[in-house]
Amino acid sequence: MAQSFKIALFPPKCHVCKAFFRSRRLTPHGDDEGSGLNEIFEQLLAPYLCSPCISDFFAIESPLCPGCGVMFAGRTGGDHLCGDCIKRQNKFTRARSTGAYNGILLSLVHRLKYHGRSELARPLGELLFHTYTRHWKDGGIDLIIPVPLHPRKLRRRGFNQSYLLVAKWPRYFSGENGGHRVEIKVDLLRRVRWTAPQTGLGRRERQNNIKGAFSLPDGVPVGNRSVLLVDDVYTTGATVTECARVLLTGGADRVDVLTLARAI
Ligand SMILES: [Zn+2]
Ligand SMILES: [Zn+2]
Repeated sequence: MAQSFKIALFPPKCHVCKAFFRSRRLTPHGDDEGSGLNEIFEQLLAPYLCSPCISDFFAIESPLCPGCGVMFAGRTGGDHLCGDCIKRQNKFTRARSTGAYNGILLSLVHRLKYHGRSELARPLGELLFHTYTRHWKDGGIDLIIPVPLHPRKLRRRGFNQSYLLVAKWPRYFSGENGGHRVEIKVDLLRRVRWTAPQTGLGRRERQNNIKGAFSLPDGVPVGNRSVLLVDDVYTTGATVTECARVLLTGGADRVDVLTLARAI
C-alpha cells in the first residue's frame, strides 16, 4: 500500500491527546550544535505527537545553576550558582536535565513509566543523549548508572525506565565522548531498601525516606571512575544525592547527574 494512501486511511493518532494528525516529514538534524533542544524534541517526537502537544515542550536552557541545574525564572544573564548550592555542598558535581517536568514531558514520562509505552523510550532516550552530548562535550564520564529500582518494583513494572532511556546509547557513542569508552552498568548500584513513594514529600522528608535505600556490593570496582547517574525525573535531588553519597563512599572519583525531566 502506498505510504500516502495508508496515512490517509490510518492517520497517526497523538500518543498524548489522542487527536489524529497529519504526519510531518521533518529534515533530520545534522550537527546538533545548531539546533536547540526544542527542534530536536520536535524532530524525534514528530511521529508520536500532534503539533500542539509538541509545542508544549519546555527545554531547560541557560541561565541555569551550574551545580544543581535549576533553571532561573529570569531569562537574562549568565549561569550562576543558585542560593541552595551556595548554602550546601552537593554530593554530585553537577546535574542537568532535558526539559521541564510539566505539560507534555510529564505526560510522556507517565506514559512510559505507568502505562508501559516502551516505544517512547527510543525517542526520549535519543533526546536525553543530545542533552548528554551538549553538557558533557569533552567526555570525562567512565561509567553510566541508571538509578535502580527495588527488585519488587522492577518485577511489578517489568522494566526500569531509567535503563530504557540509556539502553540504545552504545550505538550513538561512536565518535562522541572524546573517543573515550563509556560503560553502562545496571547491576552495580542496588536498591536494597523498600521506600514509600516520594510524591508529596518535601526535600527533608524525601532525604530521610531515601536514606540507606541504595548500596554497592563489597569490592565493586567504582574506584577512581567518573560516574553519570541517569534518572527520569529530578524533583528535589534527594534520590540522586543518596546514590551519589553511596558511589563516592565506594570510591567514585566524581558523580554527575542527568535526568530527562526536572521539576521547575
Ligand atoms: Zn496531541
Ligand atoms: Zn543550584
